[in-house]
Amino acid sequence: MSVQQSDIQKQAYVIGGGVVGVSTGIALRRAGYAVTLLERGEPGREASFGNAGVIAVTEIAPMSAPGIIWSVPKWLLDPLGPLALRPAHVPALIPWLWKFWRAGTPAGVEQAAKALAWLMDGAWQAWPELLRDAGMTAEVTEAGALTVYETDAAFHADAHEWALKRRHGIESQALSAGELVEMEPDLAGAVQRGVLRHGVYCPKTAHVSDPWRIVSGLTAHFRALGGVIEHAVVTGLSRGPADRCLIHLGDGRTLDGDTVALTAGPWSPKLLKPLGIRALVESERGYNTTLPNSGVSLKRPVTSAEGKFVLSPLAIGLRIGGAAEFAGLEADANYKRSDALLTIARRYLPDMNAEGGTQWMGQRPSTPDSLPVIGRAPGLSNLLLGFGHGHLGLTGAAVTGKLLAGLAQGQTPVPQLSAFAVERF
Ligand SMILES: Cc1cc2nc3c(=O)[nH]c(=O)nc-3n(C[C@H](O)[C@H](O)[C@H](O)COP(=O)(O)OP(=O)(O)OC[C@H]3O[C@@H](n4cnc5c(N)ncnc54)[C@H](O)[C@@H]3O)c2cc1C
Repeated sequence: MSVQQSDIQKQAYVIGGGVVGVSTGIALRRAGYAVTLLERGEPGREASFGNAGVIAVTEIAPMSAPGIIWSVPKWLLDPLGPLALRPAHVPALIPWLWKFWRAGTPAGVEQAAKALAWLMDGAWQAWPELLRDAGMTAEVTEAGALTVYETDAAFHADAHEWALKRRHGIESQALSAGELVEMEPDLAGAVQRGVLRHGVYCPKTAHVSDPWRIVSGLTAHFRALGGVIEHAVVTGLSRGPADRCLIHLGDGRTLDGDTVALTAGPWSPKLLKPLGIRALVESERGYNTTLPNSGVSLKRPVTSAEGKFVLSPLAIGLRIGGAAEFAGLEADANYKRSDALLTIARRYLPDMNAEGGTQWMGQRPSTPDSLPVIGRAPGLSNLLLGFGHGHLGLTGAAVTGKLLAGLAQGQTPVPQLSAFAVERF
């Protein structure tokens, strides 16, 4: 692929250098723009650094679902449970929680799944293209993914979710305990002890060697294509002449680009507020531990349905993570949640070696309806939005970049994009 030369004078600014921003920068560069990525830290060091590394295109069921509210007290009361709220943050969280609850109707779930299925289809095509372009194909393994169940009750309770996925074209295969062991021999002990009883295999999933290797490799590729990275804090956005979005930097400069792409993860809504644009995105913190010498050799990511954690076999070790903590953007990390995930994972893998494990916390940019914001900003001629990818930011990065570059070039938005419009808030 070559950089198109016709529009080379046009200047694009991308705000935020996570995996979504860097992918967008590459796509805009490929579309012929001079691109400057504005990043206040080191690109890729936030959520894009240490996630579970799954290209999880089958995860189209939104987080909010009918009846989920009744599970919340049980999860909150369990110190090893998958959900935590910091009381001081609850008042600020109320508008998000209200929308989350409202999104969980049968019709809302079906609509969100349809929209995500479309986006994930694009993601499945866009990732190999981007990785080929960057010479990074070897960093991804296509081995599918497993969901495992400890109880018959949980397995049967999830039947509706698998049916939802099937309705949207996602293939899955229920596995007996024996078949589970055939696929992942390291789970044999858990099956023999009766800890694991069922599995479901989804063939259409890939996992990366290391999310940091992906985002830092893409950053290097962006630079190699002539993209510029500026260490800059964006302090605000404002409306300039001809409804152009102007960018204000911490050092006092103001930038005016032909295209501005806002891809600042959970920090995006604050930047949009002065423009009168409301977006509901919460920091949904997740925790993990990466064990460099676990002694476990899983072939593919394994998700615990009950424990809500993922075991990811990365090139840098076994990463055990998940959970959701709502504490706002500024609160300190509580690594007891990483410890808790390790403790519950031992039920499956009691002999794993945890020596040298490193703990991490990242902030997922989560919307109440589980759909990211992708599209044009209303009332501004040059502003594009690409944030709020929640649990699917690695998965959705390449397709988001492609879609935003298409919009920058003046392509008519496909009707499916309307589900991702910021106006829905
Ligand atoms: C535990 C965990 C596991 C996960 N597992 C997966 C998975 O397996 N698969 C998957 O698809 N997703 C997964 N995710 C989600 C995924 O990590 C995120 O959705 C994704 O990284 C978000 O990328 P982003 O580029 O939007 O945001 P970020 O990575 O947060 O990047 C935003 C960037 O914007 C910069 N920025 C913010 N404000 C400013 C400003 N004012 N000026 C300049 N720069 C600014 C920040 O410094 C940051 O670098 C997981 C997340 C967690 C926490």
